[in-house]
Amino acid sequence: MTIWQQETLARQLWTTGKSPIPIYDMHGHMGDSQAIYHKRCQAEEMVKHLKRIGVTRLVFSHMDALAGIMRNAEVLEICKRYPDILRMYIAINPHHPEYIKEDLAAFKKFQPYAVGLKFLPAYHKVAVTAPAYEYALKFADEHALPVLFHTWGNIPENNGKVMLETVQKYSRLKFFIAHCIYGEWDYAERCVKESNGNVWLELTAIPGVRGLVEKLVGQVGSERLLFGTDMPWFDEYQAVGGILAARISEEDRHNILYRNVENILGRNF
Ligand SMILES: [Zn+2]
Repeated sequence: MTIWQQETLARQLWTTGKSPIPIYDMHGHMGDSQAIYHKRCQAEEMVKHLKRIGVTRLVFSHMDALAGIMRNAEVLEICKRYPDILRMYIAINPHHPEYIKEDLAAFKKFQPYAVGLKFLPAYHKVAVTAPAYEYALKFADEHALPVLFHTWGNIPENNGKVMLETVQKYSRLKFFIAHCIYGEWDYAERCVKESNGNVWLELTAIPGVRGLVEKLVGQVGSERLLFGTDMPWFDEYQAVGGILAARISEEDRHNILYRNVENILGRNF
């Protein structure tokens, strides 16, 4: 029997255009970029697109908040306009220690919209092990919060062994390792397996390459993988399609698209 003849999740998406199961996209952004044209990068059109495929929640960090030209409090107001779908990471810019202290002191005010923090070490040119991140790391560890770390292979600010050192230092913080330290798959596997059980790999950019989803499921198990797209940089349909078409089990797809996140943050957080 081919995929077309079975009542698979893939077939249901292909025929209805809508995901038959919940999708939590754990890695989004918002705002335009000087480097690329985004067709949909503001809240209204993004939400419309997310609803079209059936995304349950998008957790995002605003590009301008990461750049330090917009405050997280302004992003909170955007989330409040779309309470049934948008959640945020508090953007952490290590070059603005005063913003970090102020925003984390008011973290309760951001809940339930803020679910954690977002670090962008390579873009800010500050290693995650540098003192500038310590305050936010300690705060996240104390409150057992998720932190989404941008990573990529061969970038000294977030690999070069600093991620492993960091995951071993904080046992309560929930490490969401964006892009799975792209290209350094064995090192990413070590970060999961040599941690205190508090590390998940996030799949942005992975489904676009044939065989990579299968490889990562084989290395760390689908229970350690989270779905994400970098929307608006990548499209929901391409990424969800990549997960549904990968040669993994239907159980794996359930784990990746929503089950793991529900285990961490609860249903419909
Ligand atoms: Zn990103």
